Amino acid sequence: MAESMKGMHRTHRCAHLSLSNLHEQVTVMGWVQKSRNKGGIIFVDLRDRSGIIQIIFEGKNLSGEDFLKAERLRSEYVIAVTGTVEKRAGAANPNLSTGEIELIAGQIRILSESETPPFPIEEDSKTKEELRLKYRYLDLRRPDIQKNLIMRSQVATLVRQFLADEGFLEIETPILNKSTPEGARDYLVPSRVHPGNFYALPQSPQLFKQLLMVSGYDRYFQIAKCFRDEDLRADRQPEFTQIDMEMSFVDIDDVIEVNERLLQKVFKETIGVDVKLPIKRMTYAEAMERFGSDKPDTRFGMELNNVTNIVRDCNFGVFTGAIADGGSVRGINAKGQGGMSRKKIDALVEYAKGYGAKGLAYIQIADDGSIKSSFAKFISEEEMHRLIGAMDGENGDLLLFAADKNKVVFDVLSALRLHLADMMELTDKDTYEFLWVTEFPLFEWSEEQGRYVAMHHPFTMPMEEDLHLLDKEPGKVRAKAYDIILNGNEIGGGSVRIHQDDVQEKMFEKLGFSKEAAYDRFGFLLNAFKYGVPPHAGLAYGFDRLIMLMAKEDNIRNVIAFPKIKDASCLMTDAPNVVDDAQLEELGIELINKE
Ligand code: ASP
Repeated sequence: MAESMKGMHRTHRCAHLSLSNLHEQVTVMGWVQKSRNKGGIIFVDLRDRSGIIQIIFEGKNLSGEDFLKAERLRSEYVIAVTGTVEKRAGAANPNLSTGEIELIAGQIRILSESETPPFPIEEDSKTKEELRLKYRYLDLRRPDIQKNLIMRSQVATLVRQFLADEGFLEIETPILNKSTPEGARDYLVPSRVHPGNFYALPQSPQLFKQLLMVSGYDRYFQIAKCFRDEDLRADRQPEFTQIDMEMSFVDIDDVIEVNERLLQKVFKETIGVDVKLPIKRMTYAEAMERFGSDKPDTRFGMELNNVTNIVRDCNFGVFTGAIADGGSVRGINAKGQGGMSRKKIDALVEYAKGYGAKGLAYIQIADDGSIKSSFAKFISEEEMHRLIGAMDGENGDLLLFAADKNKVVFDVLSALRLHLADMMELTDKDTYEFLWVTEFPLFEWSEEQGRYVAMHHPFTMPMEEDLHLLDKEPGKVRAKAYDIILNGNEIGGGSVRIHQDDVQEKMFEKLGFSKEAAYDRFGFLLNAFKYGVPPHAGLAYGFDRLIMLMAKEDNIRNVIAFPKIKDASCLMTDAPNVVDDAQLEELGIELINKE
């Protein structure tokens, strides 16, 4: 039977009690973590979001009725207890912040009983994630998830404080919008009032934040929910949160400067990590050349070497064929891995194939300097010697080569580099390496669509020095776009925006939009740009991913209160789900069988 808490007031959270409260009378309320009856004396661990306090129920301190209640306690009962804080009679528990004290109960109320939970509420749960997500409200009681969500809240508060101090205004932008797909697929919401018409949920507040700059708000930010209907990967969520910002009368360095100080503050004040400023910068071209990736993990080396010129004239068809097709041959040196077994090397080859490689060529240099190579018989001794030299190969090293189109070579070697770093334990989660990647290409060629698409988005400003290439060689134009990388993860990105209509028109033309098509989709922005536009630029962080890295989690679901799973469904609410025929009729929607 549930009792009322009338007349009792919580004085402390459980783990906020300490030796400094000795002999004080206090009241705590929370969930029973566990209860042990040792004959006449009952030990209860009581939990709230702050942690755990040990409570002692002994007949001599309680009314008979209250002692009977204490005897009934089971895991996850919600209770209120008044008692006195005393030094532990038994040995202190070094694993608890309250390990030196205990609460001697004088009064108890059972506020709510609990069925046996489907899994234990404990740190490092061994329970399968599906079951935990079905009962997410119980999973959220676990201390590790609570820690993450508390940190998430702290970061949001710090971000708000910092940006407000820097003159940013927090302004909300609409969730029900016009569909302007360019990038990912939109989530659509049917309109009842306008049958046959649909709203789209925002993929980002991009256009609105630019309009706010046109309207003179100067500095905007928002912690914004965004929605993208993409084929889900393990670390993606259909709805996610951005820390989104935009600034007027600024260029790249201004955006970077504010954001470096923001990161420094947030990392220092939540996890005590010093971010050294200025954060290193690297151009996209350099990042690709050295790491094969536009979001390199710079916690370790193992950089790519371009050995195309050394093997150009060898007799190994795999190499020369790739070069003849306009590709390249590049390699990485897995230091100290020369003794790797054949089986493990075969597994690396299979791994590389998963990233598009047809195979992987290798040279194993044994500790005594003897060489085993998958292509030794096709190249001269001199070529082999030069190749090893170029790769900085020493006794005990394993050299791995990919030969293909550049894109494939980069994809394969960058993935392999991360995979090997994992195997070789070259990365640790206590190191935070930040990097700005700049000068991204403005466009990328889409094979699927047979046209250029914007690498960032269509409102990104080309670099002034490349403007003359827009017509002749659009693929070579670099953008005033930048990403902020942390340990090989893109945590944010942004750009300077186009604020001149002639450049914007040219941009749409290059993206294959007619003037009508551009106006049809983005007319409100293009029209706004006729009325005085400040130069502006901005950036958005993926808030979930940022918190995941700060919390040293591998799984983004562990930093989101109510996440969806890979197929975009919610195991707790069963969303998405069918709706009543009446609801559909009201919306003028008839379902077709999509099989
Ligand atoms: N809206 C962009 C994005 O979501 C970020 C930006 O350019 O500010 O990636």
